[in-house]
Amino acid sequence: MYQVKEIFLTLQGEGAHAGRTAVFCRFSGCNLWSGREQDRDSAGCSFCDTDFIGADGPDGGSFAGAEILTAAILAQWQGSSEHRFVVLTGGEPMLQVDEALISTLHHHGFEIAIETNGTFEVPRSIDWICVSPKAGTELVQRSGDELKLVYPQADLGPSDVAGFEFRFRYLQPMDGPDLIANTAGAVAFCRSNPHWRLSLQTHKLIGIP
Ligand code: SF4
Repeated sequence: MYQVKEIFLTLQGEGAHAGRTAVFCRFSGCNLWSGREQDRDSAGCSFCDTDFIGADGPDGGSFAGAEILTAAILAQWQGSSEHRFVVLTGGEPMLQVDEALISTLHHHGFEIAIETNGTFEVPRSIDWICVSPKAGTELVQRSGDELKLVYPQADLGPSDVAGFEFRFRYLQPMDGPDLIANTAGAVAFCRSNPHWRLSLQTHKLIGIP
C-alpha cells in the first residue's frame, strides 16, 4: 500500500530539469520531521515548506499496488507517450518507493526522477537521482545525478559534500524572510565556484504548484 499526499501535473521548477513537464507524485511522510509545526524545533530538518501529512491532497490517497498508483500517475499525463516524466517526491519518497513501482512506471514509458534527502540508498534503476542533504543527518546516498543543496544551512555547506559523486551541483537559496540575501550569497558562491550552479524555485516565481 502506497500512501500519497497528492499527484499533479506541473513543470519541474528546480534544478537541472527546471521547465520540464512532469507528473509530481508526493508521498506522505518523512523520516526527518513529522510535518507538525509543534515538532519543528526538535526535527532533523527544520526549514521544510511542504505539506506531506496524510493522503488527502488532490488525487492523493492510499494505493493498493504499483499498477494502481501508476494508473493514477498516468491519468495526469496530457502529452505524447514519448516524453512521460514523473518526479517521485515527498516527504521522503524512499520510505515507500520500491522496485515494483519503478518497474511498473518504466513499463508504462515513464522516465523516473526522485527527490530524496539522501538518508536511504536509492536504487540505480531510477533514472534521475536528486539528493538534497540536510544538516545533521547521515547521508547514505552520496552519488547520483544532481546534488541540490539548500543554502545557507548551519553546519552543512558546499565543502561538506565536496567528495560526493554527482553530475551536477546546485545551490538553492533558502526560502523565507532572508531569501534575497540568501540568493545573493548563492550567486556570489557560484561565481567563485563555477562547478556549482544556481537553482531557483521557478514554480514559486510564476505561481504554479
Ligand atoms: S527532508 Fe525534505 S520533506 Fe523531510 S522535512 Fe526536510 S525538506 Fe521536508
